[in-house]
Amino acid sequence: MEKKEKQEEKLYCEKYKEWVLVEIGCKHPKEYCQFRKQCLLHFKSRFKDF
Ligand code: SF4
Repeated sequence: MEKKEKQEEKLYCEKYKEWVLVEIGCKHPKEYCQFRKQCLLHFKSRFKDF
């Protein structure tokens, strides 16, 4: 059976108003961001570091 590949999962960056690949994560981790606390991009990119 053919399995659909999951590709290009993107989440929206509220600050920069753009869609960003989840595997890339927040592109500006060092900058202040008022959305960070509820930002999944930031949250998910943190998991990579474990
Ligand atoms: S934490 Fe990063 S990805 Fe999330 S909204 Fe802010 S700048 Fe965008």
